[in-house]
Amino acid sequence: MKKYAEKKRHSEEEFFRTVAANAWKISGCDGISIFHCLNSGGILKGMYKFSGGFFYEISENLFFEQDDEFSKSVFSMKPFKAREGLASYYYYPVEIKGDFDLSSFGRENMIFFRFEKFGGEKLNFSKIAQAAGALEGAMENFYIVDFEILKTYYYRNINSSAKLGEIFASSIKTEDSYKTIIAGLQKHFGFDRIRFYVVKEQEKKLVGAYSVDISGKVKPIDYDKIALEPGAHKFADITLGKNENDSSAAFGDKVFYLPLRIENRPAGLLIFDNLLSQIPISQDEKEMLKSFAAQIAMAVDNINLFNKIEELSLYDELTKLPLRRYFNSRFQEEFYRAERFSQQLSILWIDIDYFKEINDTYGHQIGDMALREAGRIINSSLRKIDFPCRYGGDEIIIMLPQAGHTEAYNLAKRLSAEIKNIKIPVPFSSNKEISLSASMGIASYPQDASKQEELLGKADEALYWVKSHGRDGIKAYCEIAKNDNAQS
Ligand code: GH3
Ligand code: MG
Repeated sequence: MKKYAEKKRHSEEEFFRTVAANAWKISGCDGISIFHCLNSGGILKGMYKFSGGFFYEISENLFFEQDDEFSKSVFSMKPFKAREGLASYYYYPVEIKGDFDLSSFGRENMIFFRFEKFGGEKLNFSKIAQAAGALEGAMENFYIVDFEILKTYYYRNINSSAKLGEIFASSIKTEDSYKTIIAGLQKHFGFDRIRFYVVKEQEKKLVGAYSVDISGKVKPIDYDKIALEPGAHKFADITLGKNENDSSAAFGDKVFYLPLRIENRPAGLLIFDNLLSQIPISQDEKEMLKSFAAQIAMAVDNINLFNKIEELSLYDELTKLPLRRYFNSRFQEEFYRAERFSQQLSILWIDIDYFKEINDTYGHQIGDMALREAGRIINSSLRKIDFPCRYGGDEIIIMLPQAGHTEAYNLAKRLSAEIKNIKIPVPFSSNKEISLSASMGIASYPQDASKQEELLGKADEALYWVKSHGRDGIKAYCEIAKNDNAQS
């Protein structure tokens, strides 16, 4: 491409006119015809002819996929003679060398020149040899040819590189960046459709992000989830770096898969297709997309990182429970809703019993294991609207919208039993296991408190009551209050 851009340009027609006129003069032939070789269909397609001092286009097509002498000769890619009635022909193939590829136009880099003598006259092979030598030399300058289509293509590529590079480097923080990337690719390459999948490492899935169609409309495709395992799906295989070469064979050149990798980890998959228009995706386009793959992968990585940071600041890494900050904002919303719609809202405050002892006896790591288990159990036992939180240390608070103390008590009983079921194996002992228990306090709006802080305070009081009455128990604030009233 580079040479091509620097040199003086000619149209293909101009170029062949000069080449053919020269060969005609030197060879003493009646005519010189020029054919190009098509990738598919086994056709030598007539392009131009120089004869009787005139240069003109021809539409003669020669088929060479039959089982005959002519076909064999073409396939051999060596010069050969042929006769047709009173005409004598000498076909002379020339390979177009250089750093560009005609296959993007459906052509092989191969031109056939046909030296022709009519009226039963013989070809002069010593003169033809001279002409052929000159022709070979002239064809080495083929790169100065400027196909109109090549030109637009070339400039479009240069523009795309610069603009897309900007897009990939600048967007790159939020989920929205997927949209920007895919829309950018569509705009510059003009495929019928592009689909963008990203790898979700934790879920071990390839998940749809966005697609763009021929009208340029970008749509989310997050419903599309594929297990990222070898053999699970063609897309999974390609993303994992298997099955890459033959994967597009089924659609010819109308589909191109671009797996995205970051340091050899699969990061995503882009699928480009021209299945509607049936325009082949050219080798140049493919190479160019490949050259963008690393940048796009980096963008995906950044988006993942961004999401992870956001998640990290909301959830506790160890227990996977939301953190206090996240809880407080949700608590505020839910409390407001409960007030507004006169609904109940309960708080269940849990604290592991003698947790410090576990740490002191078996080490912090075993303590971590116990907390992780408790978090897992809580996360899996709640209704969708319940909201747990690691409030700090071994304290966990669960907010229960639309639940009074009876519902809260039932949940507490269930959780208490499940926490007691947790068995942490003691390292270096064959069958010793650590068990846990927890103390729990409950307070409910509007029964026990009329304000957020007050509600938390009452649940804490109930918990404190259990801690000071032997632990491993559950108490609702209203019960203590009743007893206190009875006592006083
Ligand atoms: P109590 O029955 O009164 O609750 O006694 P306790 O030993 O559980 O005492 P407390 O709840 O006051 O102590 C909590 C301990 O939890 C103190 C701290 O060392 C430990 N802890 C806090 N966070 C972590 C953690 O992330 N991992 C581990 N392993 N321990 C933690
Ligand atoms: Mg404790």
